[in-house]
Amino acid sequence: MNKEGKIIIISAPSGTGKSTIINSIINNEDLKLSFSVSATNRPPREGEVDGVNYYYLTTEEFQKRIAENAFVEFEEVYPGRYYGTLKSEVERILNGGYNLILDIDVKGGLNVKKQYPDAVSIFIQPPSIECLRERLINRKTDSMEVINERVSKAEYELSFAKYYDHNVVNDVLETAIEEVKEIIKKAI
Ligand code: 5GP
Repeated sequence: MNKEGKIIIISAPSGTGKSTIINSIINNEDLKLSFSVSATNRPPREGEVDGVNYYYLTTEEFQKRIAENAFVEFEEVYPGRYYGTLKSEVERILNGGYNLILDIDVKGGLNVKKQYPDAVSIFIQPPSIECLRERLINRKTDSMEVINERVSKAEYELSFAKYYDHNVVNDVLETAIEEVKEIIKKAI
């Protein structure tokens, strides 16, 4: 696999503002970033677009891709919900000379870091668990049941933060964006 571009792994508990941070830096001309679109068998949320946010697959299609060895890594991030980084995405982006942004869970992040030790890993933290719960409620995209599931998952995910190259606390969004930008600038 050609590795011209740099791999940037970004992980964070759900609702930490990770997508907002990624969206605000993705088109920065200096950083030359491209987002790796993952495959998932979870249904699209309102406003999400197939091929832009994710490639939405049925469980059968996802399993077929696993059998074809199409993934760099994949995880069952939530019970019955699979997410995976496609080899085709990684190759397309790195061969095109772009730096690859991976928005993946903590296990996937550590897995990729093991496969690509040159990758830069960034963990984005919420200021607190209480703050995270509030943000998820305000986002209005998930049911209370899903929110509770995500909050308990967040506590588990936070225990992985120490394995990341960089930790950024998203308290003030603009500051967090600048910090992430600086980390990437230095790495590429
Ligand atoms: P969401 O359903 O909120 O879009 O994403 C749920 C979680 O799945 C997030 O933590 C996100 O980072 C993770 N995720 C998204 N794509 C991938 C992937 O390709 N691999 C892994 N391991 N996790 C992913």
